Amino acid sequence: MSLDIQQGVSLKPFNTFGIDVAARWFTQAHSDAEVREALAMAAERQWPVLVIGGGSNLLLTADVDALVLRMASRGIRLLSDDGDQVVLEAEAGEPWHPFVEHSLALGLSGLENLSLIPGTVGAAPMQNIGAYGVEIKDVFAGLTALDRQSGELRDFSLQECAFGYRDSLFKREPGRWLILRVRFNLQRHATLHLEYGPVRQRLSEQGIEIPTPGDVSQAICSIRREKLPDPAELGNAGSFFKNPVVLAELAARIKVDHPGLVAYAQADGQMKLAAGWLIEQAGWKGFREGDAGVHRLQSLVLVNYGQASGGQLHALAQRIQADILERFGVNLEMEPNLY
Ligand code: FAD
Ligand code: NAP
Repeated sequence: MSLDIQQGVSLKPFNTFGIDVAARWFTQAHSDAEVREALAMAAERQWPVLVIGGGSNLLLTADVDALVLRMASRGIRLLSDDGDQVVLEAEAGEPWHPFVEHSLALGLSGLENLSLIPGTVGAAPMQNIGAYGVEIKDVFAGLTALDRQSGELRDFSLQECAFGYRDSLFKREPGRWLILRVRFNLQRHATLHLEYGPVRQRLSEQGIEIPTPGDVSQAICSIRREKLPDPAELGNAGSFFKNPVVLAELAARIKVDHPGLVAYAQADGQMKLAAGWLIEQAGWKGFREGDAGVHRLQSLVLVNYGQASGGQLHALAQRIQADILERFGVNLEMEPNLY
């Protein structure tokens, strides 16, 4: 085995914000053996390690003084099929959206609402990716991760992942678990989730009354293409802040002065507020300072118009957080991982 370890590699092509910082060392792992080889080499030389996938949930604020290990393992396999329920397993480095398309081409439903999310399969459990009313916890069958502390492999069940809203055990124990492959419970007979946002409306506009999972995927792709900037054209990491979940009393207080507040009741009685709405009300939509800005159509998305540094984007995020706290008494939590 001979891993290709490069030095002083620009990470610009490896993060969707397009931030031009360098990795002191950089390599790509295509197999478990290469992952182990990279980790062993880093341990021997006392290099810190940063594992990345597609770099679509990262904010890099400085050169990375570590070995950046990009997961590039590929492979999708069918583990079981009882005629109705199918378990598919994918390697961590598989790009997410092509994996969703692959599952749809096999006639399977479950992942359609998660269409067009950038990144890799291996990173998807990190923040329990979610969109249009579905999170990966809803279709999760298990995963295999390497414990970087002990070097042992461990299989995780749904309960053991402790998934929450944009959260998981893996996110809460940063640097410990390297996810190698993930398994999904998918169905041949679809139970579609159309109740969220404009999905049903988009399908009816297209004259589709009884949609297939593929129809839902296409409708969601078309909505996303209209609303979200394509990182290939405008650097971004998707939603920059999580939607805050607050006490019902706070939501009610905000509503007195802001009757248009967009809020959704949670099972525990709290309210989830649309962070994008708060940011827009505070006047940040379309704001730009230098090359760091707030997207003109979607105020939850911070954008890099070209040469913004991670520090400039972080400073803008902090200004927005302080303003939202002052105006509404609400703490906005950053979603991307800061390095
Ligand atoms: P990276 O950004 O490379 O890494 C993210 C984190 O996971 C880092 O902390 C990294 O160290 C860690 N990591 C990566 N791979 C592994 C691994 N194999 N094992 C252990 N740790 C690992 N997210 C949503 O939830 N819903 C959306 O609808 C959504 N839409 C988006 C739209 C756009 C335009 C963009 C740019 C982003 C969007 N995101 C969304 C955020 C992002 O795409 C997801 O969080 C995605 O899962 C990140 O995958 P990645 O491979 O790019 O991870
Ligand atoms: P949207 O439809 O304009 O809705 C605004 C917010 O309200 C969403 O963030 C969503 O919260 C919430 N919401 C909408 N309908 C809801 C319902 N029926 N029940 C509960 N909550 C509801 O949102 P958008 O920005 O265009 O995004 C659409 C979907 O894609 C959302 O699920 C969003 O999370 C996801 N997305 C995520 C990212 C990311 O980087 N994380 C980027 C783009 C899109 P939730 O966010 O909690 O779903």
